[in-house]
Amino acid sequence: MAKRDYYEVLGVEKNANADEIKKAYRKAAIKYHPDKNPGDKEAEEKFKEAAEAYDVLSDQNKRARYDQFGHAGMDGMGGGQGGFGGGFSMDDIFRNFGDIFGGHFGGFGGFGGFGQQGGGHRVNRGSDLRVKVKLTLKEISEGTTKKLKINKLVACDKCGGTGAKDSDSYSTCPNCNGSGYVTEIVNSFFGRAQTQRVCPTCHGEGKVVTKPCDKCHGEGAVRGEEVVEIRIPAGVGEGMQLSVSGKGNAARHGGVNGDLLVVIEEEHNPELVRDGNDLLHNLTIPVTTAILGGTVEVPTIDSRAKIKIAAGTQAGKVLRLKGKGLPDVNGYGRGDILVVVDVAIPTKLNSEEKKLLEKLAEQPNFKSVNTPRGEQNIFDRMRNFFG
Ligand SMILES: [Zn+2]
Ligand SMILES: [Zn+2]
Repeated sequence: MAKRDYYEVLGVEKNANADEIKKAYRKAAIKYHPDKNPGDKEAEEKFKEAAEAYDVLSDQNKRARYDQFGHAGMDGMGGGQGGFGGGFSMDDIFRNFGDIFGGHFGGFGGFGGFGQQGGGHRVNRGSDLRVKVKLTLKEISEGTTKKLKINKLVACDKCGGTGAKDSDSYSTCPNCNGSGYVTEIVNSFFGRAQTQRVCPTCHGEGKVVTKPCDKCHGEGAVRGEEVVEIRIPAGVGEGMQLSVSGKGNAARHGGVNGDLLVVIEEEHNPELVRDGNDLLHNLTIPVTTAILGGTVEVPTIDSRAKIKIAAGTQAGKVLRLKGKGLPDVNGYGRGDILVVVDVAIPTKLNSEEKKLLEKLAEQPNFKSVNTPRGEQNIFDRMRNFFG
């Protein structure tokens, strides 16, 4: 299901300020609150949708990223809470209500019926899966979409993920009598204490499968493949992690899928070495070009560019191709290509070259060693380094 635009969800303008966003969310939360719409699935979805939109639009960083990349940018870059593509649980939403309604909104009372209590059993969650994806500089520069074939646990199609042969293949868990929890008495240094833990027999489900599905042997999940399309925003870097909610392993007995974590790797580029959003290129020019000046070719992300070498260019000179580097992943501009010039001194000379050079060596401009000023001066540079 395609996600709706967050601004549209809250019914605010793109340039709405924090106050307007808060007000709009409060209105939506009241309208679609589950206590007011009992059993109405659509209202519940709207309620969650609004909470998700508010979470993003009320956070400056998330909002900036959303404005830049849309929903693709929200799939949890770089760790954090692992993305929220699949929305929040009701628990998360109510936990965050404190700041939106303040103290005076206690009137909603209880917020019961959701979360672990209120008769709900524990829902299984599938494990997260981690895959690596290798990107070229061009792909990093432009952003890309990758289709990955993921080998994972998928819901069993024979039993629909329930693990049961048919609808009467269940019985109440004998260990916990259907509550999903067992009470234990623990003897500790401080005396006897009662604790509750998830029932080990039914894993909190409260029921057990008596006649298991013969395809998945009662697990509800089987090994399979899924092709997942992943939108990768421009500017990502080595080791960054995108999380695609709900695309990890399927859970036992039709629970909630885990997430797919996509780890970014950069393909080695022999000519352009990444340094943040800048790209470094080491350029070696003939000594004659360094002295006389000229035009040389340097690589760019997607082609090559001609640059001018000024007469008298020294080794170590850095030339900057502004804005030809990589885009910032958070949308703050673009880096440069930095061309670091080295000068090739020939190591072999034929007799004619030798003669010419010996003649040159007698000329006044070749007789003395001049120490250029500025960034080319190795002594200045050393002083800068060692303070
Ligand atoms: Zn049980
Ligand atoms: Zn099955």
